[in-house]
Amino acid sequence: MRKILVSECLYGGRPVRYDGAEIPCRDSLFLKWKAEGRLVPVCPEVLGGLPVPRPEAQRAGGGVFTKDGEDVTAAFEKGAEKALRLARESDAAFAILKEGSPSCGVATVHDGAFTGGKIPGRGLTAERLVAAGCEVFSEKEISPAAALLESLENKQSG
Ligand code: SF4
Repeated sequence: MRKILVSECLYGGRPVRYDGAEIPCRDSLFLKWKAEGRLVPVCPEVLGGLPVPRPEAQRAGGGVFTKDGEDVTAAFEKGAEKALRLARESDAAFAILKEGSPSCGVATVHDGAFTGGKIPGRGLTAERLVAAGCEVFSEKEISPAAALLESLENKQSG
């Protein structure tokens, strides 16, 4: 059974987001995979050593900064490295990550101005996973993720 790396805030069970809010994914396929024990939850920011709650941070340039200008790039990079290690150790087929996050964003991130604006781009962990050859989907892309899983498992059994 192929594993899937997932953002821990989507997996649920403990608060990991910067604001302490819980936003578990309720998609029926996601819940089925969870019940099967396929999902490997990871919160790169917590793995990087950041607390819950923590100041909101956004990508700017190549780094990540809080609204007060604190450079938190090193913690985000450490978390990205650990998430990649977990993806490799679990031989994850791909990852499903929380859209818009400075770590997990798949296609969009906040624009660095802290005014709610979003721009095309990836979070640091998503970027690292893709660079290492791990495909990433957002929580809005469960259907294409399921199609990929099916084709990978068919290949394996055939
Ligand atoms: S770093 Fe990723 S897993 Fe952790 S709270 Fe943010 S979006 Fe969720």
